[in-house]
Amino acid sequence: MEKLAIKGGCPVRSGKIYYGRQWVDEDDVQAVTKVLRGDFLTCGPKVEEMERNLEKYIGAKHAVAVSNGTAALHCACIAAGVGSGDEVITTPITFAASANCALYCGARPVFADINPETYNIDPESIRAHITDKTKAVIAVDFTGQVVDVEKIRAICDEYHLVFIEDAAHSIATKYNGKQVGSLADITTFSFHPVKTITGGEGGACITNNDEYYKKLVLAHTHGITHDESLMEGAPHEGPWYYEEIALGYNYRITDFQAALIISQMTKLDKFVSRRKEIVKRYNEAFSKIPEIIVQKEIPESDTCRHLYIIRLDLDKLTCSRKEFFDAMAAENVQCQIHYVPVYWFPYYQRLGYEMGSCPNAEEVYKGIMSIPLYPKLTDEDVEDVIHAVKKVVENYRK
Ligand SMILES: *Cc1c(COP(=O)(O)O)cnc(C)c1O
Repeated sequence: MEKLAIKGGCPVRSGKIYYGRQWVDEDDVQAVTKVLRGDFLTCGPKVEEMERNLEKYIGAKHAVAVSNGTAALHCACIAAGVGSGDEVITTPITFAASANCALYCGARPVFADINPETYNIDPESIRAHITDKTKAVIAVDFTGQVVDVEKIRAICDEYHLVFIEDAAHSIATKYNGKQVGSLADITTFSFHPVKTITGGEGGACITNNDEYYKKLVLAHTHGITHDESLMEGAPHEGPWYYEEIALGYNYRITDFQAALIISQMTKLDKFVSRRKEIVKRYNEAFSKIPEIIVQKEIPESDTCRHLYIIRLDLDKLTCSRKEFFDAMAAENVQCQIHYVPVYWFPYYQRLGYEMGSCPNAEEVYKGIMSIPLYPKLTDEDVEDVIHAVKKVVENYRK
């Protein structure tokens, strides 16, 4: 048996690799600098071009580009009419923003449990948490795999809830052949550097609904309109005149970020196929290791994975997840954990959320670990990651 690096052995590789990394090349740099040398740094033509490109790529009616994925979620909640006293159902296995956006609106996030095999929100648990205060469901396509759209749609229709899809992980994923973004009432994307395409920061809201679209536009730019047909107050006095007709925020994206995202979108197909190749190789390797549980894929989801998660079967290992994680880091494979259940955080605990309320989520959390997945990984890197996982498993096998 190979000696673990953490115990003084030789690491499987010399340079450290991380769970995620952006891909930015010379044409991205050119696209950004061109904007910087031009007239519009914000509110210019690149933002509109990005929106039209997203609409075309997804096959949806409206895209609104915003400053980040969290802003997109906040705007989605505003457009959905989420307000004080309402409840919004989401998953605890997500980034905190998926729940925080309900709090921004004065509503209460309610956590439904996950499916222990797909790790996505369980539609039956959504149903069990519906009250007469429930206004919306924020379903997260965790790791890039799409949620059970058909069942969630049916529940939302039955109870008149707005179906918001947090697709921060799942751009380019398809559900029964349809692009993510064309499925829910409002879909949100993030373009943070660890996500599939990036603008440094950036986000977008996608909808096919004209009413939601109008509200999304207002929400992300101060509730201010220049559109005369929407004005309701003082008479239109001149070309300077605009009105604030709702409370909004400054959640605009800059033109140079939009230019980067437009440039990244031209590489999206390439990113998708490389991510799929790596996932295929990982699945093949890890499905042969009894101590590792591979995430289940639903047949409806043609998934572009943002994260690759291995789940340790800790009953079959002599180490803790922390020891496994540290051993991987010593092999120069720096993993990450996605995510601590949101309601475990002190802020949520102070709001009165109970530990133990989503048992599947808490059980899954104990064993999960995100290993490197990004298109820049070489085949050699991928084999190093597999080698490291095998090496650590062998050393801690019961
Ligand atoms: C990244 C992420 C967000 C937030 O996006 P930002 O662009 O970082 O604000 C929201 N939800 C999920 C699931 C995410 O992974």
